[in-house]
Amino acid sequence: MTAKSTLKGFTTKILHHDRLRGTEHNAVHQPIHTSSQYAYADAKDLVAVFQGRPGFSYARQGTPTTAALEAKLAQMEAGTSAITFATGMAALTAVFATLLKSGDHLLASQYVFGNTNSLFGTLSQLGIEVTLVDATNLDAVKAAVRTNTRMIFVETIGNPGTQIADLEGIGEVAKANNLVYFVDGTLTSPYLFQAKSVGASLTMHSLSKHIAGHAQALGGVVIDTGLFDWSSYPNILPTYQKNDPKGWAMAQIKKKGLRDMGATLAAEPAHRIAIGAETLALRLDKACANALALAQLLDGHRAVARVAYPGLPDHQQHDRAARLFGDRFGTLLSFSLNPGLDCVEFLNSLSLPVLATHVGDTRTLALPVAQTIYHEMGSAMRAQMGIEDGLIRVSVGIEDLNDVLADFSKALDAMV
Ligand SMILES: *Cc1c(COP(=O)(O)O)cnc(C)c1O
Repeated sequence: MTAKSTLKGFTTKILHHDRLRGTEHNAVHQPIHTSSQYAYADAKDLVAVFQGRPGFSYARQGTPTTAALEAKLAQMEAGTSAITFATGMAALTAVFATLLKSGDHLLASQYVFGNTNSLFGTLSQLGIEVTLVDATNLDAVKAAVRTNTRMIFVETIGNPGTQIADLEGIGEVAKANNLVYFVDGTLTSPYLFQAKSVGASLTMHSLSKHIAGHAQALGGVVIDTGLFDWSSYPNILPTYQKNDPKGWAMAQIKKKGLRDMGATLAAEPAHRIAIGAETLALRLDKACANALALAQLLDGHRAVARVAYPGLPDHQQHDRAARLFGDRFGTLLSFSLNPGLDCVEFLNSLSLPVLATHVGDTRTLALPVAQTIYHEMGSAMRAQMGIEDGLIRVSVGIEDLNDVLADFSKALDAMV
């Protein structure tokens, strides 16, 4: 048995990944390759790389540093391959813009990240029809499938409402209708949930969140789970229909989405993300435990009207979350104070949370939702999405639990 095959655990595999893949000078990390071009002594080798042999040419299509990160991320999702991008939004844009075309229909959850929702507006302008459905309700999803539907898109935990889509049921619907099932797993990360387990074709993560984890790098990734038969997909260009059909979509996403659109992840943030990933499980164990304890505190406090956290037994999809994610329910929660209490004033009375957007940081972050990240959307759309004016979102970090609880308790007690 080789050393490689004995390394099975989630964290063990991440920690030893680069070393076992082979590095110069026995380094334990893949180095940061900043070269923008890669040269060959023999022109035949240059030609071969341009014609599809694995290798590097111009760094817009990747570097040894991004390739090592991609291999690590593909392994974390039990996928066949991964492509990294400069941000999560670039990864989403690359998938939608390269696998869908004018006249196609995209069926998406209505509980998606605000910027993704805004991106749907751009897709509509390009002639791609987008329908938003309540993805927690399988009948609504089934009823929205049309003859021109090509793809179903959902997130694992809705932000800020923490809705959990019927991820398993939608996997069945996608399979029965031969649709690409695309899952944004950012809020769970591969540590809590692998989208492959519910039949996803493609999964993506904003690496800027839990995976990098320390608010010091932006990045995104698309991973092919290997489950979809791309030879049956009508939008793969003939030039990418080469070799094993399992690789066709990723070939197209890489050439069209990365080479042509150009939102490439640079080597320096790729390295930071790779380091962050080493402690993903440790950080999430702590942050999820902190989030559950904070949700319980809020839930029991007389100044609080409503708390949304999948770990609370009265959350509408608590059982589903427990089945899919185990005993960790994520790091995001949202809540509203009693009518008449001012959420901005409340936030100003807290001293521990960082008042900032972003999620999945080591630090606890909080913001008033309607006035910030959902401001551009307008009040009618907010009402439709269930976002009240007093809603507060918290992304719980890894601080000492007593400090988190003490700070929120004190501020809440002062409100009543
Ligand atoms: C942040 C986020 C994105 C976008 O990622 P960026 O790296 O910030 O571009 C996409 N989806 C979800 C669920 C996110 O939280």
